[in-house]
Amino acid sequence: MATVSTVTTEPRIAVSATKLLINNRWVDSASGKTFPTINPATGEEICQVAEADEADVNKAAQAARKAFEAGPWRRMSASERGKLLNRLADLIEKNEDDLARLEALDNGKPYQVAKTADLPLVIGCYRYYAGWADKIQGKTIPIAGNYFCYTRLEPVGVVGQIIPWNFPLLMQAWKLGPALAAGNTVILKPAEQTPLTALRVGELILEAGFPEGVVNILPGYGPTAGGAIARHPDIDKVAFTGSTEVGHLIMEAAAKSNLKRVTLELGGKSPNIVFADADMSQAIEGSHFALFFNQGQCCCAGSRLFVEEKAYDEFVDKSVARAKKRTVGNPFDPKTEQGPQVDKDQFNKVMSYIETGKKEGAELLAGGNRVGNRGFFVEPTVFANVKDEMRIAREEIFGPVMSILKFKDIEDVVNRANRTEYGLAAAVWTRDIGKAHAVADRVRAGTVWVNCFDVFDAAAPFGGFKQSGIGRELGEYGLSQYTEVKTVTMQLPN
Ligand code: NAP
Ligand code: MG
Repeated sequence: MATVSTVTTEPRIAVSATKLLINNRWVDSASGKTFPTINPATGEEICQVAEADEADVNKAAQAARKAFEAGPWRRMSASERGKLLNRLADLIEKNEDDLARLEALDNGKPYQVAKTADLPLVIGCYRYYAGWADKIQGKTIPIAGNYFCYTRLEPVGVVGQIIPWNFPLLMQAWKLGPALAAGNTVILKPAEQTPLTALRVGELILEAGFPEGVVNILPGYGPTAGGAIARHPDIDKVAFTGSTEVGHLIMEAAAKSNLKRVTLELGGKSPNIVFADADMSQAIEGSHFALFFNQGQCCCAGSRLFVEEKAYDEFVDKSVARAKKRTVGNPFDPKTEQGPQVDKDQFNKVMSYIETGKKEGAELLAGGNRVGNRGFFVEPTVFANVKDEMRIAREEIFGPVMSILKFKDIEDVVNRANRTEYGLAAAVWTRDIGKAHAVADRVRAGTVWVNCFDVFDAAAPFGGFKQSGIGRELGEYGLSQYTEVKTVTMQLPN
């Protein structure tokens, strides 16, 4: 049984923005349709939100094109762009309490976590890219002959951005920050489950003074609004975060339309490797966090937990005890560590993986059930004696389900860690610096954490090898995905 939070009330939270933001105006969708957004802690509707579809994407693409080619945005100095981004960061900071509450309401994550983890990263990301705006520069190149050759880094143009529901504000910041710093214009589609904070940030974008058409925000569904963005002939790039399955569809649509640039941040089944020589209490708490953080809804969750034979039994016992102590319940109770899964589909998916784990013969040592009878809460669940071939060890569960596997030595664990279609992240816990470097060297993943997990900073690139994605977000690499290189060559007089 999980520890259950006892607070049942939640604060009243005002929702001010529920329409589409196109060309700096709040408008209904062309069809007039709306859709409900749900509070996952209760299963009840919070409000209706305008539902964008192809006609709205066309309108937004026209506005974004005009802003890119003819608007004040195009003529604005780079440092002015930076100032606007800094102003947006300041406004988000000023409203951080309300934004954290709205995030908790729409997504289900604990308010305390939104406030202390998500919001600082969001603000940091906008400030980091504000600083880049006037430092995006080309090179002079000494080519053969009597020529002056230089490069310019220009914005890609109109950028479509499709984001998921697990970190709504943060994914918006990872997308808008670099795109706007580099001078692009944007059409952003938030996830259907969590449109509210993206729209509230839309209000702050207007307040900051961004010109017309620079940022357009279109809540709606993936196959309709998202699909229209991916196949649009006049959108120059699409940046997507979500499932690997939809990543394939995005790339296909880009290929079939106009070869728009594609960056993808997709799923993972990240190996988290614990050697017997690790600081055990640090490794146990760190591995608990690596899996259960954000209700287990992290693309980089340490969801294949490999523990060295010698330490296996102790590690399993203590991890089970820790999971049983995890407090599940009302996102607005300050003691809550874990809220509900984001929606009924995700809840059902997680519960069905728990059934699969039992059927395949993994040993269920904690959790396994629903918590309460309303909302989408799942007990922190731990499976031991998990084998590589089991589905729970191969597929992304995206929920609070820990799978603990046993390994012999470094050779064994590195080979098994790499036997996956994914390559997003990995972690290693050890006091032996040689082992740490060997794993960092040999694991095929975009990020490797040593004696830590989920350490994010706007300056450090993040993204996947293999089917975990294409391109990187954050840092200078993330910025480079929002620029085109132009080479200018000029003959000089003899
Ligand atoms: P998803 O379908 O990949 O959703 C991500 C975003 O893509 C959403 O905005 C979604 O719109 C949109 N989308 C869906 N189908 C599309 C299409 N055909 N064309 C264009 N855009 C489309 O993910 P999900 O269904 O929410 O979750 C399913 C699984 O994906 C999860 O269980 C998890 O394994 C994985 N996931 C990974 C991440 C990550 O951070 N890498 C985040 C979320 C989910 P809608 O809002 O209408 O769905
Ligand atoms: Mg919702």
